[in-house]
Amino acid sequence: MRWRLSFKTSLGGKFLLSYLLIVLVGVATLLAVTFALAPTLFQAQLAPILQRHPGALTTAEASQHILGSFLGTLLSALAVAAIAATVTSLAISLFVARRITGPLQQMTRVSERISAGHYAERIEVAPVHRADELGQLASSINALAVVLEETERRRLEVIGDVAHELRTPIATLQGYLEGLLDGVIEPTPQTWAMLHTEAGRLRRLVDDLQELSRAEARQITLSAQPVAPQRLVQSALEPLEGQFAEKGLELQIHAPENLPPVVADPARAVQILTNLLVNALRYTPAPGRVEVVASREEDMVAFRVTDTGVGLTPEQLAHIFERFYRVDKSRSRAFGGSGIGLTIARSLAQAMGGEIRVVSAGLGQGSSFTLTLPRAHE
Ligand code: ADP
Repeated sequence: MRWRLSFKTSLGGKFLLSYLLIVLVGVATLLAVTFALAPTLFQAQLAPILQRHPGALTTAEASQHILGSFLGTLLSALAVAAIAATVTSLAISLFVARRITGPLQQMTRVSERISAGHYAERIEVAPVHRADELGQLASSINALAVVLEETERRRLEVIGDVAHELRTPIATLQGYLEGLLDGVIEPTPQTWAMLHTEAGRLRRLVDDLQELSRAEARQITLSAQPVAPQRLVQSALEPLEGQFAEKGLELQIHAPENLPPVVADPARAVQILTNLLVNALRYTPAPGRVEVVASREEDMVAFRVTDTGVGLTPEQLAHIFERFYRVDKSRSRAFGGSGIGLTIARSLAQAMGGEIRVVSAGLGQGSSFTLTLPRAHE
């Protein structure tokens, strides 16, 4: 939206008018006070002179005449002074107005560009304005532009990522369906099972995406309550113990009963631990070992899931919590992994006042994920 400013509504016009008003009021006051006091003061000055020179002014008329010409001179001098003051103040008002309206016009221009979607636009803050209110305003508009630019970048990135993630299962489904239509693929129970698996994968991906958007927008309602760490570990482990045994992985659990309770939403805390355990199960080849340890850590309780699996490089560690990040895409996809699990887990942990950390000595050296949750205060 472009604002059309008239002389009366523009800041420069207002400055000019206000300066003129100040000069007018000043001159009027000066004249009123001068002409109210000048005759009396002049008479008082004249009296001692007349006493010293008794014959100097013989008539009242002469005395009036002198007073009149004094006031006339005074008025002429004041008129010239008033004109000089008006011109000077107009020049000053123009100078001040330019220095204020210039940056304001620039800010308006840039804000309009930003609202039109040009998020890379920034206001150049002149050194002279850096510390004043105009500088502060320019800095906060620039900060707003940075946030908008980042949000837009992330929005586009998410759309791209989601499209990319959906393309593979949809292409697989389409391939099977075309094969069936052309009679190249036999409609055997295995084919239907394959189609069913792909559809399930798509469904899980969409569910994960919805969960991720809710977790990142902090829209998941958490019912935080004191809960025993041991209970959380047990609830997460119980449904998975069979799979660990089946894969030939040794499970070691250390969750002492005397640990202080944590404040957490039990279902969500179990969801995070399950995610860490499922990952340990996926990424640890047999024979291997997975260790689950709960311990006290200052004001928190730490749940550490350590495996002897494939491990992670420092580069991989830096990206592991990013959405859709998978070290080995095809391998992870074969497990049904979408690379969103850890992103959701970290969002949930943070929403409960906790955190998730990861360390690994490198490829083939196993990895260790730690979930921390705040300890309940007695
Ligand atoms: P996914 O569903 O693909 O497993 P996650 O967000 O849970 O998604 O994990 C992201 C990626 O982090 C995985 O694809 C895998 O490459 C890596 N990862 C997660 N846990 C482990 C682990 N315990 N050991 C090695 N790599 C892991």
